[in-house]
Amino acid sequence: MQGLMMDTPLLISSIAKHAEMFHGDREIVSVTMDNPRHRCTVSDVTTRARKLANALDKLGLDQGDRVATIAWNDYRHLEIYYGVSGAGYVCHTINPRLFPEQLVFIINHAEDRWIFTDLMFVPLLEKLLPQIPNVEGFVVMTDEAHMPETALPNAVCYETLIANESSDYTWPDLDERTASALCYTSGTTGDPKGVLYDHRSTVLHAYASVAPDVMNLSSSDCLLPVVPLFHVNAWGIPYSALITGAKLVFPGPKMGDGEALYELIESEEVNLALGVPTVWLGLLQYCEQAGKILNSLDRTVIGGAAVPRAMIEQFKKVHDVRAVQGWGMTEMSPLGTANSPKFGSESMSEDEQLDLATKAGRGIFGCELRIVDDEGTELPWDGVAYGALQVRGPWICSDYYKLEGSAGTHTEDGWFDTGDVATIDPRGYMAITDRTKDVIKSGGEWISSIELENTAMGHPAVAQAAVIGVSHPKWTERPLLIVVKAEGQDIEKEEMLAYFDGKVATWWIPNDVAFVDELPHTATGKVKKIELRKQFADYAFPD
Ligand code: ADP
Repeated sequence: MQGLMMDTPLLISSIAKHAEMFHGDREIVSVTMDNPRHRCTVSDVTTRARKLANALDKLGLDQGDRVATIAWNDYRHLEIYYGVSGAGYVCHTINPRLFPEQLVFIINHAEDRWIFTDLMFVPLLEKLLPQIPNVEGFVVMTDEAHMPETALPNAVCYETLIANESSDYTWPDLDERTASALCYTSGTTGDPKGVLYDHRSTVLHAYASVAPDVMNLSSSDCLLPVVPLFHVNAWGIPYSALITGAKLVFPGPKMGDGEALYELIESEEVNLALGVPTVWLGLLQYCEQAGKILNSLDRTVIGGAAVPRAMIEQFKKVHDVRAVQGWGMTEMSPLGTANSPKFGSESMSEDEQLDLATKAGRGIFGCELRIVDDEGTELPWDGVAYGALQVRGPWICSDYYKLEGSAGTHTEDGWFDTGDVATIDPRGYMAITDRTKDVIKSGGEWISSIELENTAMGHPAVAQAAVIGVSHPKWTERPLLIVVKAEGQDIEKEEMLAYFDGKVATWWIPNDVAFVDELPHTATGKVKKIELRKQFADYAFPD
């Protein structure tokens, strides 16, 4: 017997409608290229999204056509999110920090028909122009006063495009499985791969992410997504914020500027900020040097890379801010786990709580997790056994765009292999030990580069640390620690290595330390191990 419930589709436009009705007056603050502090409301954004939808329909786009963005986080970008997806087109967010050849590949592979761009990326697009002949036009996200002279064909100013459009627009009644957005993985190995989200997956992911043990969002929150709108839909914040009615503060191009972030947090009374660890290194460093305390912030959601224990500790002890670690990936919309305290953790010592906070967290409802060995046999959740981490759920990709059936990332029984190696403890907390390709294989055993990096980061003289496996005649591979020293600090190799004593198994201790001025980072702000391995390709351990 079937139930007797309505079958209304889960659509992104339904979030816009809800937001406008119940918290249309909520403020959205943006730093933009043409305004250092732009203020508007949720209603302004949804109204302008409808005007944009009218304008898009007139461009002659067909349902499902890709409309790209190359832009920082601000209110116009949010309008494009809703206008494009809501009208039945696919919003393809592009990471401007990718190499030009990757940008060309992505734009052509996605067959983007129009590109919306921030002012500052106009010169970049002009350079790419000969290689992206199929793009029909460009919308520069600014007003007439700031519109540049440009060689881009069919270049329109965003404000002009929507100025004379009606705000009357009936969002189409789409099938909830209609594609809504497209995001390419950063392609550290091979070409970038396109992950194609749909309305249903996006809405379900947003529902899940607002829950208390996940991001714990409510209408009283003030959110600062430092995670870019081009990095897996800013972890779903554009949707979850509008579901809840939280205030939004967009940093625009000021993402990597510790001082600007501090000023925004303090002046707008941000209580929750979200971003990758690298961003918080900059902010914490600024606070330390300038003698500032983060007064309004009460938590940060940090993900995209392992969060060093020292960072969690500094947030807690210096600023009284709880760092909530999350784990996920582009293929997962992105959320898979969140690290919130579970009943029973109240009795833990401060040290135990910190240890727990360094884990990736518990699976959130809607994302199943399992760890398997090389034969695909499930491993126990004992916090010790580690294996390939696989996931399943309604916001996990079932395949890659235009690569159907050929990526080899899905198991026969329908799970997605994440490429991460993990343990899961008896209380359900998952910890990433490595990416499969970063794991160090020493004498037939595995060493976790993440745990070694985390340990090294605990030393006050270490600003950043990365560990890679280097070939070794006896052990196959041994860990090499690469360190960027903290400003004004010094440390010798012997002291660094001695620091690991008693903190990790003796045979895990790196064989050597290399000091460098900086570490290479990927376009999403993670340490680029592939580049480090190239840099140290000729390195040999001392005898
Ligand atoms: P890419 O870095 O390839 O662009 P993603 O941004 O989707 O792609 O990154 C996903 C990967 O980032 C995960 O597979 C995992 O290796 C890493 N990652 C994300 N969150 C965490 C975390 N909390 N701890 C450790 N690694 C993480």
